[in-house]
Amino acid sequence: MLFYWGYRLPQTDIRPEFFDTVAVWCFRAVAVMVGILVFIALVADLNDPAHNFLILPALAAVAGTGAGRHDARAKTRTYTLKQRNQELQETQAELEETVDQLQESEQRYRTLAENFPNGAVALLDDELRYTIVGGQGFEPLDFGAEDLQGEQIQDVYSGEILEMIESNYRETLAGEPTSFELTVQGRVFEFRTHPLTDDDGDVYAILAMTQDITERKQYEEKLEQLVADLEESNKRLEQFAYAASHDLQEPLRMVSSYLQLIERRYGEKLDEEGKELFEYALDGAERMRSMIDGLLQYSRIETMGSEFRPVDLDSVFDDVCEDLQVTIEESGAEITADRLPRVKGDENQLRQLVQNLLSNAIKYSGEEPPRVHVSAERNGEEWVVSVADHGIGIDPEDQEQIFEVFEGLHADGEYAGTGIGLAVCERIVERHGGEIWVESEPGEGSTFSFTLPAVADSVI
Ligand code: ADP
Repeated sequence: MLFYWGYRLPQTDIRPEFFDTVAVWCFRAVAVMVGILVFIALVADLNDPAHNFLILPALAAVAGTGAGRHDARAKTRTYTLKQRNQELQETQAELEETVDQLQESEQRYRTLAENFPNGAVALLDDELRYTIVGGQGFEPLDFGAEDLQGEQIQDVYSGEILEMIESNYRETLAGEPTSFELTVQGRVFEFRTHPLTDDDGDVYAILAMTQDITERKQYEEKLEQLVADLEESNKRLEQFAYAASHDLQEPLRMVSSYLQLIERRYGEKLDEEGKELFEYALDGAERMRSMIDGLLQYSRIETMGSEFRPVDLDSVFDDVCEDLQVTIEESGAEITADRLPRVKGDENQLRQLVQNLLSNAIKYSGEEPPRVHVSAERNGEEWVVSVADHGIGIDPEDQEQIFEVFEGLHADGEYAGTGIGLAVCERIVERHGGEIWVESEPGEGSTFSFTLPAVADSVI
């Protein structure tokens, strides 16, 4: 039996470290039984010692093993219990740590939300209930983030505000981000919403952000007002320049025609000095006429311009060359051009632009016969057209000023001019949304370049 139990022991639920408990109980029982038998043998004289010493210790061994198994099982149970307890404690410690971490992370997110500057940030569930909300944009309002926390939007807003918020939030729940503006208690807020989706792509929450844009709005309104005022004042100035130059034409015409009358009637009677003085007066009247013409032209660019259409710069160039034929022949100018593109613009004004630049290039050519070349280069959505000459060039410090009205550099020298041609060019280019500039080396020549919007399919 002992052998059988010994063989079965590993298959029981007793842990191996408690196997010796079973053996100890077995040996103890045998020892006690042998002790009792020795005692009986000494005191009461055993009648069959051989049988007794064989059978009773054997029985005691079986009984001891039984008790030992019981004890070992009890110890195993205690051991298992202790171990479970320890595991439980460890699990509890882990749980506590996780809770701490969660609280910390929740605190961090809360801090993030609460410190959201000049606005608010919120998460809403699919029943449009605020699950988290915070931000400093509540300061000017009479309710705060804590009044929204846990509430559905219907519980906190009403009327138009609710309508606006609800329709946009519902759209977000359907998967569409939205943005809208809303005035709440006199403050203008810009709302932006974003749907939050799970792994299956279903929207489970809304991320909503708002920014207080009251000051920005006021600033924008002021700016718009300022632009409107400026446009108005610009228009008035243009009208003024137009009216003034227009009205000046009449008295000037009078001066010119009376001067001509005087010349016709009394020209013979004037001596040399008188004739010279008279010439000055005629010259002055003539200069004034061209200045007034220039001013009129300048002030009409915005108001009298026609609609933009595709314009073939090649034919504009040919027309201008034809108009300037006399000047070209007289000066012996050689004027060449690359193939020029089609651009979008006001044909008359573009002709004026090319004419002013070409006649300047001829006029400021210096001693040599003028050599002028017109080229064009595509730059993204626009064309850069350049008029290059080999003339007298322009001092770097004068290069800005030549585009101003009446800022001719040689008004009373060998090159007579009103100083308005390039100002007209700049105005025309600006009206077409472009830029004009000059690159020049005194004595070497000048290249005037301007940009014009390209026609969608234009290639050279
Ligand atoms: P104007 O020719 O009537 O004086 P513009 O406005 O056309 O007036 O030109 C302003 C000034 O720019 C001119 O006086 C001249 O000094 C200078 N300028 C213009 N075009 C050229 C050029 N191609 N080469 C050298 N100087 C030029």
